Amino acid sequence: MHKKIILLPGDGIGKEVTAEGKRVLQKIAELFNHHFEFDEASIGHHAIEAAGTPLPDETLSKLKNCDAILFGAVGHPMYDNDPTLKVRPEQGLLKMRKELGLYANLRPIKLFDELLHVSSIKSEILKGSDILFFRELTGDVYFGERGRKDDRATAYDVMIYHRYEVERIAHKAFQAARTRKKKVTSVDKANVLESSRLWREVVQDVGKQYPDVQLEHQFVDAASMRLIQNPRSYDVVLTGNLFGDILTDEASQIAGSMGMLASASVGDTVGLYEPIHGSAHDITGKGIANPLASILSVALLLDISFGLKEESEMVIKAVEKMLKEGYRTADIADSDTDKSKILNTQKAGTIIVEQLSKLPRVAHV
Ligand code: NAD
Repeated sequence: MHKKIILLPGDGIGKEVTAEGKRVLQKIAELFNHHFEFDEASIGHHAIEAAGTPLPDETLSKLKNCDAILFGAVGHPMYDNDPTLKVRPEQGLLKMRKELGLYANLRPIKLFDELLHVSSIKSEILKGSDILFFRELTGDVYFGERGRKDDRATAYDVMIYHRYEVERIAHKAFQAARTRKKKVTSVDKANVLESSRLWREVVQDVGKQYPDVQLEHQFVDAASMRLIQNPRSYDVVLTGNLFGDILTDEASQIAGSMGMLASASVGDTVGLYEPIHGSAHDITGKGIANPLASILSVALLLDISFGLKEESEMVIKAVEKMLKEGYRTADIADSDTDKSKILNTQKAGTIIVEQLSKLPRVAHV
Protein backbone atom coordinates (compact mmCIF):
# COMPACT_ATOMS: atom_id res chain seq x y z
CA MET A 1 0.00 0.00 0.00
CA HIS A 2 1.32 3.46 -0.91
CA LYS A 3 0.05 6.37 1.22
CA LYS A 4 1.02 9.96 1.85
CA ILE A 5 0.97 11.08 5.50
CA ILE A 6 1.40 14.67 6.65
CA LEU A 7 3.04 15.16 10.04
CA LEU A 8 1.87 18.25 11.92
CA PRO A 9 3.93 18.20 15.13
CA GLY A 10 2.86 21.73 16.21
CA ASP A 11 4.10 23.04 19.56
CA GLY A 12 5.53 21.89 22.88
CA ILE A 13 5.46 18.13 23.43
CA GLY A 14 3.54 17.81 20.13
CA LYS A 15 6.93 17.62 18.40
CA GLU A 16 8.31 15.05 20.84
CA VAL A 17 5.41 12.61 20.70
CA THR A 18 4.78 12.92 16.94
CA ALA A 19 8.39 11.86 16.30
CA GLU A 20 7.63 8.56 18.09
CA GLY A 21 4.34 8.14 16.19
CA LYS A 22 6.31 8.49 12.94
CA ARG A 23 8.81 5.81 14.01
CA VAL A 24 5.93 3.41 14.64
CA LEU A 25 4.47 4.12 11.19
CA GLN A 26 7.89 3.51 9.63
CA LYS A 27 8.22 0.19 11.45
CA ILE A 28 4.73 -0.91 10.35
CA ALA A 29 5.59 0.02 6.75
CA GLU A 30 8.78 -2.04 6.95
CA LEU A 31 7.08 -5.09 8.52
CA PHE A 32 4.11 -5.15 6.16
CA ASN A 33 5.82 -3.91 3.03
CA HIS A 34 3.85 -0.68 2.74
CA HIS A 35 5.23 2.56 1.41
CA PHE A 36 4.36 5.51 3.65
CA GLU A 37 5.57 8.82 2.27
CA PHE A 38 5.96 11.56 4.93
CA ASP A 39 5.87 15.31 4.64
CA GLU A 40 5.83 17.86 7.46
CA ALA A 41 3.88 21.12 7.80
CA SER A 42 3.62 23.85 10.40
CA ILE A 43 0.70 24.91 12.59
CA GLY A 44 0.07 26.79 15.83
CA HIS A 45 2.53 29.03 17.66
CA HIS A 46 5.34 27.59 15.59
CA ALA A 47 3.55 28.78 12.39
CA ILE A 48 2.67 32.20 13.87
CA GLU A 49 6.35 32.78 14.61
CA ALA A 50 7.42 31.70 11.13
CA ALA A 51 4.59 32.98 8.94
CA GLY A 52 2.38 35.24 11.08
CA THR A 53 -0.59 32.89 10.89
CA PRO A 54 -1.47 29.69 12.83
CA LEU A 55 -2.51 27.82 9.65
CA PRO A 56 -0.46 28.93 6.61
CA ASP A 57 -1.92 28.35 3.13
CA GLU A 58 0.99 26.03 2.36
CA THR A 59 -0.01 23.80 5.30
CA LEU A 60 -3.65 23.76 4.27
CA SER A 61 -2.78 22.82 0.71
CA LYS A 62 -0.58 19.92 1.93
CA LEU A 63 -3.39 18.73 4.22
CA LYS A 64 -5.87 18.73 1.36
CA ASN A 65 -3.58 16.56 -0.73
CA CYS A 66 -2.71 13.64 1.50
CA ASP A 67 -4.18 10.35 2.74
CA ALA A 68 -3.96 10.98 6.51
CA ILE A 69 -2.65 13.52 9.02
CA LEU A 70 -0.78 12.81 12.26
CA PHE A 71 -1.07 15.88 14.47
CA GLY A 72 0.68 16.69 17.77
CA ALA A 73 -0.69 19.71 19.67
CA VAL A 74 -0.71 23.48 19.54
CA GLY A 75 -0.37 26.07 22.27
CA HIS A 76 2.08 28.29 24.13
CA PRO A 77 1.89 29.86 27.59
CA MET A 78 2.11 33.41 26.16
CA TYR A 79 -1.44 33.03 24.74
CA ASP A 80 -2.82 31.30 27.83
CA ASN A 81 -1.66 34.24 29.93
CA ASP A 82 -2.88 36.95 27.55
CA PRO A 83 -6.45 36.45 26.26
CA THR A 84 -6.29 39.75 24.36
CA LEU A 85 -3.82 38.43 21.73
CA LYS A 86 -5.71 38.40 18.45
CA VAL A 87 -3.69 35.79 16.50
CA ARG A 88 -3.78 32.53 18.48
CA PRO A 89 -2.60 28.92 17.91
CA GLU A 90 -6.03 27.35 18.49
CA GLN A 91 -7.46 29.42 15.60
CA GLY A 92 -5.33 27.23 13.35
CA LEU A 93 -6.91 24.12 14.84
CA LEU A 94 -10.48 25.38 14.44
CA LYS A 95 -9.84 26.58 10.89
CA MET A 96 -8.21 23.27 9.96
CA ARG A 97 -11.26 21.29 11.24
CA LYS A 98 -13.64 23.56 9.34
CA GLU A 99 -11.61 23.63 6.08
CA LEU A 100 -11.16 19.86 6.04
CA GLY A 101 -14.78 19.19 7.04
CA LEU A 102 -13.67 17.18 10.09
CA TYR A 103 -17.02 17.13 11.85
CA ALA A 104 -16.73 14.00 13.99
CA ASN A 105 -14.17 13.51 16.72
CA LEU A 106 -13.83 9.92 17.91
CA ARG A 107 -12.25 9.34 21.30
CA PRO A 108 -12.00 5.76 22.47
CA ILE A 109 -11.66 5.53 26.26
CA LYS A 110 -10.27 2.08 26.80
CA LEU A 111 -8.55 1.09 29.94
CA PHE A 112 -5.46 -1.10 29.92
CA ASP A 113 -5.71 -3.50 32.88
CA GLU A 114 -2.15 -2.72 33.95
CA LEU A 115 -3.12 0.92 34.53
CA LEU A 116 -6.27 0.27 36.57
CA HIS A 117 -4.66 1.47 39.78
CA VAL A 118 -3.15 4.62 38.17
CA SER A 119 -6.57 6.22 37.85
CA SER A 120 -7.94 8.20 40.77
CA ILE A 121 -11.18 6.22 40.36
CA LYS A 122 -11.56 2.87 42.17
CA SER A 123 -10.51 -0.17 40.11
CA GLU A 124 -13.75 -2.07 40.74
CA ILE A 125 -15.73 0.81 39.19
CA LEU A 126 -13.38 1.14 36.23
CA LYS A 127 -12.65 -2.45 35.24
CA GLY A 128 -14.20 -3.32 31.88
CA SER A 129 -14.94 0.30 30.89
CA ASP A 130 -14.86 0.78 27.14
CA ILE A 131 -16.43 3.97 25.83
CA LEU A 132 -16.34 5.49 22.37
CA PHE A 133 -17.10 9.21 22.31
CA PHE A 134 -18.43 10.94 19.21
CA ARG A 135 -17.95 14.65 19.75
CA GLU A 136 -19.33 17.01 17.10
CA LEU A 137 -16.49 19.25 15.98
CA THR A 138 -17.54 22.00 13.59
CA GLY A 139 -20.62 23.56 15.20
CA ASP A 140 -21.82 24.81 18.62
CA VAL A 141 -20.55 27.84 20.54
CA TYR A 142 -17.11 27.39 18.99
CA PHE A 143 -18.40 28.53 15.61
CA GLY A 144 -21.49 30.60 16.48
CA GLU A 145 -21.64 34.38 16.44
CA ARG A 146 -19.66 35.97 19.24
CA GLY A 147 -18.79 39.41 20.41
CA ARG A 148 -19.07 42.18 22.93
CA LYS A 149 -21.92 44.66 23.28
CA ASP A 150 -21.14 48.36 22.90
CA ASP A 151 -20.55 48.74 26.63
CA ARG A 152 -17.72 46.08 26.31
CA ALA A 153 -18.91 44.70 29.64
CA THR A 154 -21.30 42.20 28.06
CA ALA A 155 -20.10 39.26 25.94
CA TYR A 156 -21.89 36.48 24.06
CA ASP A 157 -21.14 33.24 22.16
CA VAL A 158 -24.07 31.77 20.28
CA MET A 159 -24.70 28.04 20.62
CA ILE A 160 -25.96 27.00 17.21
CA TYR A 161 -26.66 23.68 15.49
CA HIS A 162 -28.18 22.88 12.11
CA ARG A 163 -30.15 19.69 11.50
CA TYR A 164 -27.65 18.35 8.93
CA GLU A 165 -24.76 18.75 11.39
CA VAL A 166 -26.48 16.59 13.98
CA GLU A 167 -27.72 14.06 11.42
CA ARG A 168 -24.33 13.25 9.91
CA ILE A 169 -22.54 12.64 13.23
CA ALA A 170 -25.53 10.74 14.64
CA HIS A 171 -25.33 8.32 11.71
CA LYS A 172 -21.62 7.75 12.40
CA ALA A 173 -22.33 7.08 16.10
CA PHE A 174 -25.15 4.60 15.39
CA GLN A 175 -23.05 2.82 12.77
CA ALA A 176 -20.18 2.47 15.24
CA ALA A 177 -22.57 1.21 17.95
CA ARG A 178 -23.62 -1.59 15.60
CA THR A 179 -20.05 -2.93 15.69
CA ARG A 180 -19.94 -2.69 19.51
CA LYS A 181 -22.51 -3.19 22.29
CA LYS A 182 -25.31 -1.55 20.29
CA LYS A 183 -26.05 1.32 22.63
CA VAL A 184 -25.91 5.08 22.04
CA THR A 185 -26.15 7.62 24.86
CA SER A 186 -26.87 11.08 23.46
CA VAL A 187 -25.83 13.88 25.83
CA ASP A 188 -27.44 17.33 25.69
CA LYS A 189 -29.07 20.01 27.86
CA ALA A 190 -32.54 19.78 26.30
CA ASN A 191 -34.27 20.87 29.52
CA VAL A 192 -32.80 24.36 29.01
CA LEU A 193 -31.29 24.91 25.56
CA GLU A 194 -33.20 25.17 22.29
CA SER A 195 -30.18 23.94 20.30
CA SER A 196 -30.20 20.84 22.55
CA ARG A 197 -33.91 20.30 21.86
CA LEU A 198 -33.11 20.26 18.13
CA TRP A 199 -30.16 17.92 18.85
CA ARG A 200 -32.42 15.48 20.69
CA GLU A 201 -35.16 15.63 18.04
CA VAL A 202 -32.68 14.85 15.23
CA VAL A 203 -30.93 12.05 17.15
CA GLN A 204 -34.34 10.43 17.81
CA ASP A 205 -35.18 10.65 14.09
CA VAL A 206 -31.84 9.14 13.04
CA GLY A 207 -32.18 6.47 15.74
CA LYS A 208 -35.35 5.15 14.08
CA GLN A 209 -33.18 3.97 11.21
CA TYR A 210 -31.17 1.81 13.65
CA PRO A 211 -33.84 -0.16 15.55
CA ASP A 212 -31.22 -2.70 16.64
CA VAL A 213 -29.34 0.01 18.59
CA GLN A 214 -30.61 1.11 21.99
CA LEU A 215 -30.82 4.91 22.32
CA GLU A 216 -30.86 6.80 25.61
CA HIS A 217 -30.66 10.53 26.33
CA GLN A 218 -28.92 12.18 29.26
CA PHE A 219 -28.50 15.75 30.37
CA VAL A 220 -24.87 16.79 30.42
CA ASP A 221 -24.82 17.48 34.16
CA ALA A 222 -26.12 13.98 34.92
CA ALA A 223 -23.76 12.43 32.38
CA SER A 224 -20.73 14.12 33.94
CA MET A 225 -21.66 12.47 37.23
CA ARG A 226 -22.49 9.03 35.84
CA LEU A 227 -19.29 8.90 33.84
CA ILE A 228 -17.35 8.67 37.08
CA GLN A 229 -19.99 6.78 39.05
CA ASN A 230 -20.65 4.02 36.52
CA PRO A 231 -18.44 4.25 33.42
CA ARG A 232 -19.31 0.69 32.39
CA SER A 233 -22.89 1.80 31.68
CA TYR A 234 -21.73 3.55 28.49
CA ASP A 235 -20.95 2.19 25.07
CA VAL A 236 -21.11 4.96 22.43
CA VAL A 237 -21.58 8.52 23.72
CA LEU A 238 -22.78 11.09 21.18
CA THR A 239 -22.54 14.76 22.06
CA GLY A 240 -21.98 18.32 20.84
CA ASN A 241 -18.74 20.26 20.61
CA LEU A 242 -18.70 22.04 23.98
CA PHE A 243 -20.12 19.22 26.11
CA GLY A 244 -17.84 16.77 24.30
CA ASP A 245 -14.78 18.90 24.95
CA ILE A 246 -15.43 18.82 28.68
CA LEU A 247 -16.71 15.26 29.05
CA THR A 248 -13.84 13.70 27.11
CA ASP A 249 -11.26 15.36 29.35
CA GLU A 250 -13.20 14.10 32.35
CA ALA A 251 -13.26 10.64 30.81
CA SER A 252 -9.49 10.78 30.30
CA GLN A 253 -9.20 10.17 34.02
CA ILE A 254 -10.75 6.75 33.48
CA ALA A 255 -7.64 5.90 31.46
CA GLY A 256 -5.36 7.30 34.14
CA SER A 257 -3.48 9.89 32.10
CA MET A 258 -3.97 12.34 29.25
CA GLY A 259 -0.86 10.74 27.80
CA MET A 260 -2.74 7.50 27.01
CA LEU A 261 -5.65 8.75 24.92
CA ALA A 262 -5.84 8.97 21.17
CA SER A 263 -8.41 10.56 18.93
CA ALA A 264 -9.51 10.63 15.32
CA SER A 265 -11.24 13.51 13.57
CA VAL A 266 -13.07 12.44 10.46
CA GLY A 267 -15.53 13.81 7.96
CA ASP A 268 -15.98 13.14 4.32
CA THR A 269 -12.36 13.52 3.24
CA VAL A 270 -8.97 13.06 4.92
CA GLY A 271 -8.75 11.88 8.56
CA LEU A 272 -6.72 13.63 11.25
CA TYR A 273 -5.27 11.70 14.20
CA GLU A 274 -3.99 13.24 17.41
CA PRO A 275 -3.43 12.66 21.11
CA ILE A 276 -6.11 14.34 23.22
CA HIS A 277 -3.55 16.21 25.29
CA GLY A 278 -2.23 19.69 24.62
CA SER A 279 1.29 21.02 24.18
CA ALA A 280 2.07 20.56 27.92
CA HIS A 281 4.66 23.30 28.32
CA ASP A 282 5.28 22.29 31.90
CA ILE A 283 7.14 19.22 30.62
CA THR A 284 8.31 20.33 27.16
CA GLY A 285 11.98 19.67 26.46
CA LYS A 286 12.38 17.37 29.45
CA GLY A 287 11.98 14.23 27.33
CA ILE A 288 9.40 12.77 29.70
CA ALA A 289 6.20 13.15 27.65
CA ASN A 290 4.27 9.94 27.23
CA PRO A 291 4.17 9.15 23.47
CA LEU A 292 1.55 6.37 23.79
CA ALA A 293 -1.39 8.65 22.95
CA SER A 294 0.33 9.57 19.70
CA ILE A 295 1.22 5.93 19.05
CA LEU A 296 -2.39 4.85 19.73
CA SER A 297 -3.47 7.64 17.33
CA VAL A 298 -1.32 5.86 14.74
CA ALA A 299 -3.34 2.69 15.44
CA LEU A 300 -6.56 4.63 14.75
CA LEU A 301 -5.05 6.09 11.57
CA LEU A 302 -4.08 2.67 10.23
CA ASP A 303 -7.54 1.28 10.95
CA ILE A 304 -9.87 4.15 10.02
CA SER A 305 -8.06 5.89 7.14
CA PHE A 306 -6.18 2.95 5.60
CA GLY A 307 -8.38 -0.01 6.62
CA LEU A 308 -5.26 -1.82 7.92
CA LYS A 309 -6.86 -3.75 10.79
CA GLU A 310 -4.01 -6.18 11.43
CA GLU A 311 -1.39 -3.43 11.49
CA SER A 312 -3.59 -1.35 13.81
CA GLU A 313 -4.14 -4.25 16.22
CA MET A 314 -0.41 -4.91 16.29
CA VAL A 315 0.29 -1.38 17.46
CA ILE A 316 -2.28 -1.75 20.28
CA LYS A 317 -0.80 -5.15 21.21
CA ALA A 318 2.69 -3.62 21.33
CA VAL A 319 1.42 -1.01 23.81
CA GLU A 320 -0.29 -3.74 25.89
CA LYS A 321 2.89 -5.79 25.89
CA MET A 322 5.04 -2.85 26.93
CA LEU A 323 2.73 -2.19 29.89
CA LYS A 324 2.54 -5.90 30.80
CA GLU A 325 6.32 -6.06 30.92
CA GLY A 326 6.24 -3.29 33.52
CA TYR A 327 7.51 -0.40 31.39
CA ARG A 328 6.01 3.01 32.17
CA THR A 329 6.53 6.66 31.36
CA ALA A 330 6.65 8.96 34.39
CA ASP A 331 2.98 10.04 34.17
CA ILE A 332 1.72 6.45 34.52
CA ALA A 333 4.33 5.19 36.97
CA ASP A 334 3.55 4.71 40.65
CA SER A 335 5.35 3.60 43.80
CA ASP A 336 5.26 -0.08 42.64
CA THR A 337 7.00 0.67 39.35
CA ASP A 338 10.52 -0.69 38.99
CA LYS A 339 12.55 2.53 38.64
CA SER A 340 14.70 0.97 35.91
CA LYS A 341 11.55 0.56 33.80
CA ILE A 342 10.53 4.22 33.80
CA LEU A 343 11.17 5.36 30.25
CA ASN A 344 11.71 8.69 28.60
CA THR A 345 9.78 9.61 25.45
CA GLN A 346 12.27 8.20 22.94
CA LYS A 347 12.94 5.02 24.88
CA ALA A 348 9.20 4.34 25.11
CA GLY A 349 9.03 4.71 21.31
CA THR A 350 11.98 2.34 20.96
CA ILE A 351 10.32 -0.31 23.15
CA ILE A 352 7.15 -0.14 21.03
CA VAL A 353 9.17 -0.50 17.80
CA GLU A 354 11.04 -3.48 19.30
CA GLN A 355 7.76 -5.08 20.41
CA LEU A 356 6.40 -4.70 16.89
CA SER A 357 9.35 -6.68 15.51
CA LYS A 358 8.76 -9.48 18.02
CA LEU A 359 4.96 -9.78 17.78
CA PRO A 360 3.50 -12.57 15.65
CA ARG A 361 1.33 -11.53 12.71
CA VAL A 362 -2.43 -11.94 13.34
CA ALA A 363 -4.25 -13.62 10.50
CA HIS A 364 -7.42 -11.83 9.39
CA VAL A 365 -10.30 -13.18 7.41
P1 NAD B 1 -2.21 19.65 28.47
O1 NAD B 1 -2.96 18.49 27.93
O2 NAD B 1 -1.14 20.18 27.60
O3 NAD B 1 -1.56 19.25 29.89
C1 NAD B 1 -2.35 18.92 31.03
C2 NAD B 1 -1.47 18.18 32.04
O4 NAD B 1 -1.25 16.84 31.56
C3 NAD B 1 -0.08 18.80 32.20
O5 NAD B 1 0.32 18.68 33.54
C4 NAD B 1 0.81 17.95 31.34
O6 NAD B 1 2.15 17.89 31.77
C5 NAD B 1 0.12 16.57 31.40
N1 NAD B 1 0.29 15.86 30.13
C6 NAD B 1 -0.36 16.11 28.96
N2 NAD B 1 0.08 15.28 28.02
C7 NAD B 1 1.00 14.48 28.58
C8 NAD B 1 1.82 13.43 28.07
N3 NAD B 1 1.76 13.02 26.78
N4 NAD B 1 2.68 12.84 28.91
C9 NAD B 1 2.76 13.22 30.20
N5 NAD B 1 2.01 14.19 30.74
C10 NAD B 1 1.14 14.84 29.92
O7 NAD B 1 -3.27 20.80 28.81
P2 NAD B 1 -3.06 22.28 29.33
O8 NAD B 1 -1.90 22.33 30.27
O9 NAD B 1 -4.38 22.74 29.76
O10 NAD B 1 -2.68 23.12 28.03
C11 NAD B 1 -1.35 23.39 27.61
C12 NAD B 1 -1.42 24.08 26.24
O11 NAD B 1 -1.96 23.15 25.28
C13 NAD B 1 -2.34 25.29 26.22
O12 NAD B 1 -1.69 26.29 25.46
C14 NAD B 1 -3.61 24.80 25.55
O13 NAD B 1 -4.27 25.82 24.85
C15 NAD B 1 -3.04 23.76 24.59
N6 NAD B 1 -3.98 22.68 24.22
C16 NAD B 1 -3.91 22.23 22.94
C17 NAD B 1 -4.70 21.17 22.53
C18 NAD B 1 -4.56 20.70 21.12
O14 NAD B 1 -3.66 21.11 20.41
N7 NAD B 1 -5.41 19.79 20.65
C19 NAD B 1 -5.54 20.53 23.44
C20 NAD B 1 -5.57 20.98 24.77
C21 NAD B 1 -4.77 22.06 25.15
